[in-house]
Amino acid sequence: MATIFARIVNGEIPCYKVAEDEKFLAFLDINPLAKGHTLVIPKVETDYIFDMTDSDLSAMMIFAKKVAKAIKEVVPCTKIGVTVIGLEVPHAHIHLIPINSIYDMDFSRPKLQLDSSVFESLSQEIASMV
Ligand code: 5GP
Repeated sequence: MATIFARIVNGEIPCYKVAEDEKFLAFLDINPLAKGHTLVIPKVETDYIFDMTDSDLSAMMIFAKKVAKAIKEVVPCTKIGVTVIGLEVPHAHIHLIPINSIYDMDFSRPKLQLDSSVFESLSQEIASMV
């Protein structure tokens, strides 16, 4: 059974895409902690990030770096926080989250409810900066 992220990769489920190359995809988290909260995933399904090959893992971080810089151009913040959890979706992913304080990385906080028009414009603006 494909993960929800594999179904996003193959186009069965839509996403607000911000960047893509042959190996990786970045799209907005649907339950964001902040505007611009983005997930970076490998297109090939792997549950645990540290089961990825050294070359794929480093390439994913370099891809995430480009995406993080683009997010920071669009969303005013001090830094882009980086975290890996992976307890909900068993498909490796990096969270990129605009932050101003440690509190902004607290996943137990209520998530933002954003209109589709806000997701759409955020994804387009970030995509234009990548
Ligand atoms: P984790 O596996 O790192 O604990 O959390 C998975 C993350 O994926 C959560 O932040 C959740 O909001 C996000 N997520 C789960 N399902 C979907 C989905 O179908 N689309 C998008 N864009 N994000 C999702």
